[in-house]
Amino acid sequence: MPTPESRAQELRQILNEHSYRYYVLNAPTITDAEYDALYHELVALETAHPHLIMPDSPTQRAGSDLTDDFPKVEHPAPILSLGNAFSDDDLWAWEERNLKLLPSGTQLAYMLEPKLDGLTVVIHYDNGVLVKAATRGNGRVGDDVTANVRTIRTVPLRIPATGDIAPPRHIVVRGEVLFLKHDFNALNERQREAGLPLYVNARNTASGTLKQKDSRITASRPLTCYLYDIVDISPDDIHGKPIYLPTQQAMLDYMRDMGFFIPPESHLYPTLSHIIQQIPTWIEKRHALDFEIDGLVIKVNDRKIDAELGVVGKDPRGAIAYKFPAEEATTTLKAVVVNIGRTGKLTPTASLEPVFVGGVTVSNATMHNYKFIAELDVRLGDKVVIKRSGDVIPYVIGPVPDLRDGTEQPILPPTHCPVCHTPIIQPEGAVDHFCPNTACPERVYRSIEFFVSRGAMDIEGMGGQTVKQLIEAGFIHDEADIFALKADDLLTLDGFAQKKVDNLLASIEKAKSRPLAQLLASLGIDGVGSTVAQSLADKFRSIRALMDADVQAIQEIDGIGDVLAENIVAWFDDDHHQRLIAKLTAAGVNMQAGEKTVLGDALAGKTFVLTGTLPTLSREKATELIEAHGGKVSSSVSKKTSYVLMGDSPGSKAEKAAQLGVPIIDEQAFLQMLE
Ligand SMILES: [Zn+2]
Repeated sequence: MPTPESRAQELRQILNEHSYRYYVLNAPTITDAEYDALYHELVALETAHPHLIMPDSPTQRAGSDLTDDFPKVEHPAPILSLGNAFSDDDLWAWEERNLKLLPSGTQLAYMLEPKLDGLTVVIHYDNGVLVKAATRGNGRVGDDVTANVRTIRTVPLRIPATGDIAPPRHIVVRGEVLFLKHDFNALNERQREAGLPLYVNARNTASGTLKQKDSRITASRPLTCYLYDIVDISPDDIHGKPIYLPTQQAMLDYMRDMGFFIPPESHLYPTLSHIIQQIPTWIEKRHALDFEIDGLVIKVNDRKIDAELGVVGKDPRGAIAYKFPAEEATTTLKAVVVNIGRTGKLTPTASLEPVFVGGVTVSNATMHNYKFIAELDVRLGDKVVIKRSGDVIPYVIGPVPDLRDGTEQPILPPTHCPVCHTPIIQPEGAVDHFCPNTACPERVYRSIEFFVSRGAMDIEGMGGQTVKQLIEAGFIHDEADIFALKADDLLTLDGFAQKKVDNLLASIEKAKSRPLAQLLASLGIDGVGSTVAQSLADKFRSIRALMDADVQAIQEIDGIGDVLAENIVAWFDDDHHQRLIAKLTAAGVNMQAGEKTVLGDALAGKTFVLTGTLPTLSREKATELIEAHGGKVSSSVSKKTSYVLMGDSPGSKAEKAAQLGVPIIDEQAFLQMLE
């Protein structure tokens, strides 16, 4: 029978080791139930014998409600920040300055590490046991957050976390506390389910969590801590054996052996040139990582040289941060402008104090819908965080409530359309609000703009600006009026010379004979994209037959559910739309499906899903080719999908395909299949 002392020690060791295997190595060797059983045995022992509670006991991860005003901790060495580089030239200049300080002929190799966007922590271990943890504070003195850091599962309470190598007598390590992206999303999912406000910014939430007075709150949130630097270490280990860490790489390896969670993808490169070659790759893969980074850290690998280089001002010379262009910025929400789309959908758009972000000045950002605004409690006058990354339209992430002064006003959906003053509706169960008036001038403009666009009726020479000009001149009131435009009228418009008028009229004439499916997809019926339009054209063969069809007949089509079928019927029931169809017919626009072209049977029995923009084929053309070769086009990816034909900026369909193991092909491969 082991003594309570020896059993408690054994349990601590087993539990700590499994915690390491689970959270750091992601390779558990016991089940959760087994872990829980051992854990409860330890809790029972410690409850019966409180003197057995040790600082490295996993029971201490649960947190406590003991509040203290965060006593101060002096760091054993200054916790320095890094100088910044924003370009390759900055990096070359940095190396050149360093080489001047070193014996001629010195070759510098470098470690490249991701620059994590979290909070710095400094953690102390004595004889292998975590004894203290502090925030960076002012770099010399930080706040004692030991109780909170103990709750972070990736931080070992005892080192080495596994194995029997001797720990140093004393070591102080530096790291970064953050939320992994998937943990942050899960945390917000929990908030959403509980009807609580969502967290906006992962870094700020991590900061708030680390500085909680009640460490039980910290324990309830899934923080992660990467450790990447040794601030201080005893010259030898607990057995008196000297510790020798000549390079950054050796240091990281040593830390990994001790069981610290090391930032992934840290690599050694022989020259700065190699490092610079890596930068574009990092910028590209940045968003695919499970943690936020705002740049890269480049460190002289040789620690002796690093020490010789010393510190200039507050920055060490031997390391530098290469900063990516900021993708997030904080600015003031000055007003909310409502955009009305062709379906009548209201999109609240933030009018912002202009701010430089992601390489450009941004003064507008989308706020998606009023549900988003309500969930995040965004208010007029708020400081808001906006994001602009890559080609995505800038959007509001959320407000910064801490910066409120009390003058901020709630944002509510308008009761009436700001353009046509029709009462706004929110269909039951819908996220969005709508202007239901099909004759709303803004909806008409958006509809016509969509009708003529590439991918719809594709009327060359008729962009949004021209549409606006024609509406303002009173020449068009709906899509059908386009086909009644006269040269004499057009010539009176600003910037319309004879040649431009001739070209425009020629492309309008050409548009009259577009296939029925293309016309249907151009009408802007909610839910009727090119795939559904093609199915409707295939089944009903004419607009007349489709208008006469009831919900049930439409629903018989594969891939069209009752909601969409009802939507289509309602669209054609609308007076405004019926007049439009009559006018289009009278103008000579094609209303019939032509004979089906048959080019071969190379794709017989194959089902395709299209996603993204193809380099040369339009969606309609690709659909036509697939069907002319005996294949089928479907709108969603399932196990029955044969191929996903993917172009630029693909949507979630590509991810779904990858999950289901459906082959993804590009246009070139597709065209080869037809040969
Ligand atoms: Zn309206």
